Order: sequence, then C-alpha cells, then structure tokens
Amino acid sequence: MPQPTSPGDYADFYRQSIAPDTREAFWLEQARAIDWHQAPQQACDYHNPPFARWFADGQLNLCHNAVDRHLAQRADQPAIIAVSTETNTERVYTFAQLHEEVQRMAAVLQSFGVGKGDRVQIYMPMIAEAAFAMLACVRLGAIHSVVFGGFASVSLASRIDDAQPKVVISADAGSRGGKAIAYKPLLDEALQLAKHKPAAVLLVDRGLAPMPLQAGRDHLWSTLRTQPQFSEAKVPCTWLNSSDPSYILYTSGTTGKPKGVQRDTGGYAVALASSMQHIFAGQAGQTFFCTSDIGWVVGHSYIVYGPLIAGMATIMYEGLPTRPDAGIWWSLVEKYRISHMFSAPTAVRVLKKQDPAYLKKYDLSSLQALWLAGEPLDQPTAQWISGALQVPIIDNYWQTETGWPILTLCNGVEQQTSRFGSPGKAVYGFNVKLIDEATGQALTEPNQKGVLAMEGPLPPGCLQTVWGDDERFVNTYWSSIPGRQIYSTFDWGIQDADGYYFILGRTDDVINVAGHRLGTREIEESISSHNGIAEVAVVGVADKLKGQVAMAFAVARDANQVATAEGQAALEAEVMKQVDSQLGAVARPARVLFVNLLPKTRSGKLLRRALQAVAEQRDPGDLTTMEDPTALNQVKELLATA
Ligand code: ATP
Ligand code: MG
Repeated sequence: MPQPTSPGDYADFYRQSIAPDTREAFWLEQARAIDWHQAPQQACDYHNPPFARWFADGQLNLCHNAVDRHLAQRADQPAIIAVSTETNTERVYTFAQLHEEVQRMAAVLQSFGVGKGDRVQIYMPMIAEAAFAMLACVRLGAIHSVVFGGFASVSLASRIDDAQPKVVISADAGSRGGKAIAYKPLLDEALQLAKHKPAAVLLVDRGLAPMPLQAGRDHLWSTLRTQPQFSEAKVPCTWLNSSDPSYILYTSGTTGKPKGVQRDTGGYAVALASSMQHIFAGQAGQTFFCTSDIGWVVGHSYIVYGPLIAGMATIMYEGLPTRPDAGIWWSLVEKYRISHMFSAPTAVRVLKKQDPAYLKKYDLSSLQALWLAGEPLDQPTAQWISGALQVPIIDNYWQTETGWPILTLCNGVEQQTSRFGSPGKAVYGFNVKLIDEATGQALTEPNQKGVLAMEGPLPPGCLQTVWGDDERFVNTYWSSIPGRQIYSTFDWGIQDADGYYFILGRTDDVINVAGHRLGTREIEESISSHNGIAEVAVVGVADKLKGQVAMAFAVARDANQVATAEGQAALEAEVMKQVDSQLGAVARPARVLFVNLLPKTRSGKLLRRALQAVAEQRDPGDLTTMEDPTALNQVKELLATA
C-alpha cells in the first residue's frame, strides 16, 4: 500500500485498516515490512473476543528483525549509541558488534537454563547492556520484564512475584545528577521480600557502588563475557509463533496497582515496523533519539525495538536534560546528526525554565521532527518548543497497553500547528470511538465529551492480556459497555468537526463542583497559560457545600515571586482571575498553593490521586511509583496551615 501523502489518502488508508472487508489484506501487506521465518497467511484471528491473535500462523524472531536482518547491508553502521553524561562516556555499537554482544548475553542466559517462555527480569540503568539483555531474551524466546531502574525494593519484589523470573539482570548502580544510586542493595532486599526466588542474578559492574556478590546466585557479566564459551558464542534465533509473548511490562501505576501488560511477538514487530514508516517516516541509516527510559513502554518501542527494526541508530541516553547544561540534548543532535527525537512534555517544561540561548548554540538542521507523548501537551509548552526548534512538534497519545500511538498526526494527515493541544487523529488500525458515559452509545456529533474507547479487535502490537490474569484483562478494559467488545482507555476526549481529538484527562480526574463536571486538565491548561506558572496540578477535594472544589498546586516559574506570603497571595489572585476569564468562575480553584515540586510517577506523570488523598486527609495509597517521596511533605505542611 503506498504511503499516504494527502489527507484524502490517509482517510482511505485508515478506513482500509479497520473495515472488516479490507482489514486482512491491509495488515498482511503491513506484515511484509518485517522478516518472517514463516510468512503468515492470516492477519487477525478474532474468534475469541476480546482476545485478538495477529498473524497467528506466522513464525519470526524479534531479535532477528532488530539485529541479524541488518547484517548483510549495514553491519558496520551504528546501531546503539550509548551516551552517559553521568559517567561521561560515549560508546557506539555497530550492528555487527551488537550482534556479538547479544549472542554473548544469550549464551550466558542459556547457561543459566533460560529458554523459550522463561521470564527474565531486567532492572537496569540506561546502559547499552540493558538493550543487550532485552534483545538476548527475545532471541531465545524468553519473556523479559523490564522494571524501571531505581524502583524501590517493595515494588520490585511485587513484580518479581508476579512475573516469576528464572534470572534477574541488574547492575551495581544507576546514576542521577552525578549521584550514584546503588541498585544491588535494593535488589537484594527485593529478593529477600519476594516469595519467588530466581535461579541466578547477572550483574553489570560499572564501578559506581560496592557490590557484594552472593556465591552461587550472583554472576558478573564482565567475567562471563570474556570466557571463550561465551565470547565466541553463536546463538541462533529461536523461531517463535507470532502469538508467543515477547515481554511483560507494567503500567505506570498512576491510577492504582500497575497492570502487567503482556505483548505478543509478531503483531508487535509489524506494528513497530509499520509505525516507523507511516508515523515517523524513519529510514535505515538515520538516527533516532528517544529520551525516555527502557523501563517504560516508550523506551521499549522507540529506544530499542522500533528504530532497530527500521535499521536506524538509536541513542541510549543516561543523564538529565540539563546537565552539564541545558544544551546537552541539542549538542547530541548536532554531533550524531539526529533526525528523529521523541520526548515527553515534562522534559520540555524543564528545558523551558532554562536559558533559551542553549537552543541557538547548535546545528539542528538534521532534525526532522520532535514527537512528544506521555501526558497532555499544553499549548504554551508546544508553542515554545516549536518556536525554538523550528521543526514540527507532534503530540502522540497512547498507553502501555497499546505499545504504539493511538492518536497522532500520521504521514498524510494535515499538520495543523494551530491545533496545538490536540494529539491529532486516530492512527490506522485503531477503531477509535468516543462513548457517552451515561448511555454507552458512540457519540456522533462533534465537540461532545466522551470516554475515548476502541472497538475490538485492537490492532497488532496491543496487549494480548494482563499477565497471568485473563479475567482482569476482560474486566478492566472490556467491560464498560455490557455486551459490546469495546476497549476503554479511561481517558476523556472530544473530537472537533475536522476529526482532531483532544484529551481532557483521565475519567477519574473529573471534578464535580455543584453539579458541574469539570476536567482537571482544562483548569490546569488555563492556569499554566499564566506566565508566572511553570507547572500545576489540579485535584478535586471533597467539600460539604459544593460536593467538590478544585484545588491547585502550582510551581512558580520564579521561586522569588512566591517567596513571601504577599507574593503568593498576589499570584494566586492573578491565577484565579485568569481562570475566571477563561473558563468561568465555576472552574476557579478554591485555593492555589505554591510548592517547589509536584508528586510524579517515575515516568513523569502527575500523581493527582496522591495529592487528592492528602488534601482530603486520606491515606495516599500505593506510592511506590512516586519519583520523589518527599514531594508530598510540603503539600501536607501547606494544607495544615491553609
Ligand atoms: P496506570 O494505567 O497504571 O494508572 P498510566 O495510565 O499512567 O498508569 P501509562 O500507560 O504509562 O500508564 O500512561 C498512559 C496514559 O498517559 C494515557 O491513558 C493518558 O492518560 C496519558 N497520556 C499519554 N500520552 C498522552 C498525550 N499525548 N496526551 C494526553 N495524555 C496522554
Ligand atoms: Mg493507564
């Protein structure tokens, strides 16, 4: 199918991807973007909804597609460029070198008894060995479960018990802002806590923190890697059925207990290869820089698998966006001629607080576009970075569950910069609907608010089930409209008359003020468009009179402005006036309280449920995914005096 180049083409492309009479042919065509050991004859098997099996009769290997497949044409081109501003190291691995390293690690895993279907947990910093580990697992047909490095031992232990890995791969430490964070003690504690005991632990010693080894269980990668049986190892790819799982990955835990998303092999490979073409327009030989972490879905899809499947070099970056200074990312763009960048609004907001001169210092002419995902992209942030970079800024909306974007501007969709605030249109394959919460019916008129949902089957690449819990999969995602195979995203959205969607926040982030239902996102947008505000979180707090009132927690752009009570009161009044004029007095927050730091998940998402619980003097619940555990202290103090 030709690449859509106009909106009309795209509309047709989209229709073919979801219509029952064209869907099969459409996806079999997309499937040709990857290498199959045995090519599939069937695209979607949906005889047991909502469980979809994609390319079920096909056989392939993900590692073959990411690595081996490229050796004939680009063995000596860069595959992984590992940059750490924490340890001041840069190392380029060509596809040939990556192939060797992955086989070494696969051979070591085999020596621990790891084979097809076994789980391997990866708890690592952003170093090249983490990608070797992921690729080594899928090479063997082992199922990896990457847990974000630095997660506390309790969260780690619960994920060990859920996935029951045969082996854990980890490192002595990660590093953040120049400070080592020792992982090994956290891992040891987690292994103490967990009921499940893995047979072996493989450790990368970076020399950042002391790492006592437990004899018989713990092994050093540096030692094993050089032993002849591993250093020269040839480990062929294990051919898997398309529906064999490739990995388990837990959701961010923003709304509660994380869900273990189980991904297949063939559908995922096709979805990524296809997205590299139709969303990112990526070419083999170009360089992709995704600033996320391998602990998140964006890192799985667009640090490791997507770019490598496309034959692109991928940057693995360990460090802050502001160290040694706020020009570091742009210096990498210049140095490695980066063509594609992918980041998150929260990172852009961090850069926005720095000197804009850093963006002018480097040659950014190689950059084609910047994609942003993970959180609502507010207009001021989008406008700022768009002005600074002079390339398209492309919002994209998706979930750990889907593995690739649900909404964005694909090739061919009109790129309307005036629509900042919208992640664009439905991505092909996703039969997106807005559902009326009360009636369960799909909304047909534009600009009506509904729950963003997808009619089954979900396209290739999406979750197969919740690991070990089919019932939770069905009950969580597919049960909002009885009798219908509709997947709920639990996000609110609207669609304008031209088909562009806007995300209004999560369904549990709605405030009901005296009978008016308000999305926290709308109020946050209004507040953050005030010049004095860097960042804000709005939550609904129980109120005897009104049912709920909105409460805002804001970080001021200039801390000096809110250093005194008078300064705070003045900015608070201004912000309230702004909300009054933009949304009306009903949306005005009862208070705007100024903090230095907002509670966020480690993936950079606002933990509104924690703020809300503290504001209502309830127990904030599971906080193991929180980035900085002290972030709630200041909120508590403020509320005590407010
Ligand atoms: P959990 O499901 O465990 O509560 P989570 O939903 O935060 O955690 P993720 O899968 O990491 O876990 O995040 C997906 C969610 O992030 C989406 O459902 C949506 O709420 C939000 N999101 C992602 N991208 C965007 C975007 N471009 N615009 C607005 N919201 C986004
Ligand atoms: Mg979610």
